[in-house]
Amino acid sequence: MSESSSQSVLFDRTPSFSFEFFPPKTQEGAASLLDTVVKLQEFHPSFVSVTYGAGGGSRELTRAVVCDMQSRGIPTVPHLTCVGHTEAEIEDILHHYIAAGARAIMVLRGDPPRNGVYNPGQDAFRHAADLVRFIRAWEDRQRLPQRLTLGVAGFAEGHPDSRNRLREMDFLKAKLDEGADYICTQLFFDNHAFFDFRDRCRLMDIHVPIIAGIMPVTSISSMNRMAELSAGTNFPARLLKAMLRAGGDKQTIERLGINYASNQCGELLDADVDGIHFYTLNRSKATLEIYHNLGFNNYYDVDRLRMLNNIYKS
Ligand SMILES: Cc1cc2nc3c(=O)[nH]c(=O)nc-3n(C[C@H](O)[C@H](O)[C@H](O)COP(=O)(O)OP(=O)(O)OC[C@H]3O[C@@H](n4cnc5c(N)ncnc54)[C@H](O)[C@@H]3O)c2cc1C
Repeated sequence: MSESSSQSVLFDRTPSFSFEFFPPKTQEGAASLLDTVVKLQEFHPSFVSVTYGAGGGSRELTRAVVCDMQSRGIPTVPHLTCVGHTEAEIEDILHHYIAAGARAIMVLRGDPPRNGVYNPGQDAFRHAADLVRFIRAWEDRQRLPQRLTLGVAGFAEGHPDSRNRLREMDFLKAKLDEGADYICTQLFFDNHAFFDFRDRCRLMDIHVPIIAGIMPVTSISSMNRMAELSAGTNFPARLLKAMLRAGGDKQTIERLGINYASNQCGELLDADVDGIHFYTLNRSKATLEIYHNLGFNNYYDVDRLRMLNNIYKS
């Protein structure tokens, strides 16, 4: 682990466990997210993160959710994308998050909005690495008492835009060289892809924590949506066979999907993963069941795992 990240509150206890939420658009959605947060908070996550949309309205919602979580004392990592932003806008957002008490940011390029007019010529930043560099320089100018912890995206199975997987690793390395502290991966269902990615990172002299992004399949429609959103993610035959075995029974599909993700997590923990990040879709059920399948009934069980890990390592 790099010095800066090992000092970060996000990684003071490893493996880290974290949950990702998206900003809800309705009152019901907000109430449901709050219920989810209360249930998952029982396990004292290392942090929660809040995604950032492509449009102005949803971007405001991210800010609101981040402030709300922070005010509840939950360490919150806002996602920040550079698509469609000027330097002044980014500075304004950074001031806002610092004032809300956020001490970490997930720095991304984002994707151009699907609907509406988008003029890339107006963007101040082309790639996530440019935004990482800008935030580090901004921090110096602000003389912040504590360096922000910056996360960046990693794609164990490759980013869909990349035609050259070797160059892609150079571009990933550039984000770390500009000052990022950790990598969180796109969701994946094949642990070998993650282990290979981790090995490739180490070969590139990347030694920051690499957090594994996990999203359980809970329905066939959610699986189809995941395939769309996480373009490029491989759905292994083993997972598809399990789904077929369920024969369309919704409860069985959910149970098999949760079991599959639980096995993934168990194997990752055995292989000394730095952290697991759950893509929750603002629901607690699947994540809580994975916790129970892993033998975690409460926060103390999670901490026991960390203690045992440290004993094995020393
Ligand atoms: C953990 C995680 C969280 C995410 N959260 C959000 C979110 O909240 N909101 C959202 O809109 N999206 C989110 N995304 C999606 C992400 O924004 C998209 O996948 C986007 O296409 C890539 O973002 P990036 O930060 O990896 O971009 P970059 O690191 O800029 O890379 C984008 C592409 O450009 C290539 N590249 C990088 N540098 C160069 C260069 N110098 N020259 C040529 N090519 C280059 C890369 O290889 C890659 O193909 C998330 C993804 C992950 C994995």
